[in-house]
Amino acid sequence: MREWEKNIRKIVPYTPGEQPKRKDIIKLNTNENPYPPLPEVAKAVAEASGKLYLYSDTECIELRKALAKRLDVSMDELLMTNGSDEILNFAFMAFCDKHIPAVFADITYGFYPVFAEINQVPYEVIPLKEDLTIDVTDYFQRAGTIFIANPNAPTAIALKREEIVQILEQNPYNVVVVDEAYVDFGAESCVPLIREYDNLLVTQTFSKSRSMAGARLGIGIANPELIRDLKTVQFSTNPYNIDSVTMAAGTACVENDEYNMENCRRIIETREWARQKFEELGFEVTPSRTNFLFARHPEISGEDLYLKLKEQGILIRHFSVERIKDYNRITIGTREDMETVTEKISKILKA
Ligand code: PMP
Repeated sequence: MREWEKNIRKIVPYTPGEQPKRKDIIKLNTNENPYPPLPEVAKAVAEASGKLYLYSDTECIELRKALAKRLDVSMDELLMTNGSDEILNFAFMAFCDKHIPAVFADITYGFYPVFAEINQVPYEVIPLKEDLTIDVTDYFQRAGTIFIANPNAPTAIALKREEIVQILEQNPYNVVVVDEAYVDFGAESCVPLIREYDNLLVTQTFSKSRSMAGARLGIGIANPELIRDLKTVQFSTNPYNIDSVTMAAGTACVENDEYNMENCRRIIETREWARQKFEELGFEVTPSRTNFLFARHPEISGEDLYLKLKEQGILIRHFSVERIKDYNRITIGTREDMETVTEKISKILKA
C-alpha cells in the first residue's frame, strides 16, 4: 500500500439511513419530523434567495441573535454549523488529537468512531450496561474528550441533568460534549450548565424538533472560550459553512419556535400511544425521550421485521451491530403513520 492510502482506505464511512425515491413509502428510518416547517420559513427562503449573489454571513448574526434569545444564552456562547454533524466534527478537530483520545459508549451515535478515524484520533469505547443504560461512574476521571449523546441514540434513553453534572464534576480537565440532537422530545437540557462548567459543549440541531433536516443546521452552545476554539476550526476549514438561505430559514424557524415545540408535544403524545401499542404486541421497548422507539420482539428478528415492513412500503432502521441486532429503531411519524405501522406489524406477527 502506498503511504497516503493507509489511513483513508481503512476508513469505513458513516452510513446514513436510506432516502428512497418512492413517494408512497412511510419513512420512519431517519428520525425526521413528520410536520413541515411553517410558511414563514418558505417566505424567508424566497427572500434570501434574491441575495444569493453575495457570500453568506460568516458570523450568522441574525440567526444567533434569535437563537440566543430563545435559548437564554448570549451570542458569544453560540456557534452555528452545517448540521450538528459539523459541530461534532469540529469538536473532534479542536479537542482531540493523538494524545487526547475520544471517549464514548459502544452503542451510541455511529458517527463518533468515524469522526475519530478520519481525524486520526484514538478512541476508547465504554460498554453500556446490560439494560442499555449508561453507568455514569464509567465516565469519571477519564483521560480524553467525552462524547455523550443525551438522549442516547439509538437506545432513546436519557440521563438526568444531575447525572451529567456528576460526569462534569469528575472531569474538570476534559471537554465533555453533550449531543442533544433529541433533547426537545422530553429530556433535560444541559444548556443551563454552560456558565458553571467551562469544559461543557452542548450540541443541538434543527433537524429533528425544528423540522429542518434538509436545511442542515446545527448549534454549538458553550462558554465563549470553547466557542472561540471551535470557531478557529470553522475559519480554518469552511468560514462560509452556512449558506444564506439556510440562515434565513433558521431565523424564521426560531422566531416561531412555539410551533416547533407544539409539534414536539404532538410527537411525544403519538410516541406514548405507539409505545403502548408496541408493548401490547409483545415488544420490549426502551423508555424513550426521543422521537423514535427502540424495540425488540421475542418472536421475530430485527432484520426480519425490517425486511417484511420494507416489502409493505414502511421503512424503519435496523442496525447489524451484534449487540443490538435484535432491535429496530422506529421514528415517530404522524398518528396515522403509527396506526398503519402497528396494524402491519400485528399482521406480520400473526402470519
Ligand atoms: N447526533 C445524533 C445522536 C444523531 O442521531 C444525529 C442524526 N443523525 C445527529 C447528531 C446529527 O444530526 P444533524 O447533522 O442532522 O444535525
